[in-house]
Amino acid sequence: MSIDSLIRNTIRSDVLAIPGYHVADASGFIKLDAMENPYPLPDHLATDLAQRLANVALNRYPVASYATLKQRICRQLGVPAGYDVLLGNGSDELISMLEMACAHQDRRAVVVAPVPTFVMYARSAQFAGMDFVGVPLKADLTLDKDAMLAAIEQHKPALVFLSYPNNPTGNLFDENHMVEIIRALGDTGIAVVDEAYEPFAQQSFMPRLPEFDNLVVMRTVSKLGLAGIRLGYMSGAPKLLEQLDKVRPPYNINVLTQVAAEFALDNIEVLNSQAALLRNERAALSTALTAIPGVQVFPSAANFILVRVPDADAANAYLLSHKVLVKNVGKMHGVLANCLRITVSTPEENAAFLAAFKAAMAA
Ligand SMILES: *Cc1c(COP(=O)(O)O)cnc(C)c1O
Repeated sequence: MSIDSLIRNTIRSDVLAIPGYHVADASGFIKLDAMENPYPLPDHLATDLAQRLANVALNRYPVASYATLKQRICRQLGVPAGYDVLLGNGSDELISMLEMACAHQDRRAVVVAPVPTFVMYARSAQFAGMDFVGVPLKADLTLDKDAMLAAIEQHKPALVFLSYPNNPTGNLFDENHMVEIIRALGDTGIAVVDEAYEPFAQQSFMPRLPEFDNLVVMRTVSKLGLAGIRLGYMSGAPKLLEQLDKVRPPYNINVLTQVAAEFALDNIEVLNSQAALLRNERAALSTALTAIPGVQVFPSAANFILVRVPDADAANAYLLSHKVLVKNVGKMHGVLANCLRITVSTPEENAAFLAAFKAAMAA
């Protein structure tokens, strides 16, 4: 009995071949790599929340319908009348549920997305047994609509993911181009609009759900300030959600998340005003970055900013040595050569980042 042969005999070869999802150790760093909201809950709210969590029956399974939380999300977060939501353990789980549900066993099933984009669309597709086809963005990081339409025609994808705004580029794709893509899919494919950054973009396809039976709109509370509770939701035609719900693990949202999310909805104005602060900081940081010689700043509708520098590896190494963590996306795709993705944070952290970044550019 050898553990190595056990692994070779059991674990899929494509799983053996890939590296694990790497998350940098951030202790002691200014953490500008993961699009987290830097503001904690105010003290009095943290105390109230502790009280509510203390009353949760941890010995019981969650109520499987999640009706209360779903109704509150629908009512407070702009889900159209007559539409329900499906909840996920983060939107990561929703992505994987969509792909599991569409991964036909008897024929090739394809996911199409523009690239570079959120890496989980491709990763979960692989795990579900679907083929992923990435359609490169144009050099200016806009959607190549004609190439997307050609890929849809050629591959007949069951799913098309559109991150709106796109991670890691930060831009919103042209709304009319997206509508053309949704229409082109017709009744052969589902268009998933991923609105993880909706609090910072303030633009949404959610109100347009009734126009398209093949549209699913997905969101998460992670970037709004609750990344730790792991909650995502998606909405779409009720008959479609009913099918997607079948692949959901029955108790995927735990009771602590459920209560914390209901508490957050009770106090949503606190999170909304933090998002407003971050939108202002995004504008200020973007202006400051634009003034640095040699730095190209891309427009952002998210809580991060993409910049191009002469040497991203060198800049990143300098920032790391000064305890600032950003995401070096320069090797992710050709159109991102020498690009860094910087999460917008508090005025203090942004200033500390800017000081280190200016020094890196002068070095
Ligand atoms: C961060 C992010 C997610 C993941 O959200 P979770 O709810 O934390 O799993 C999904 N989509 C995009 C585009 C993201 O950037």
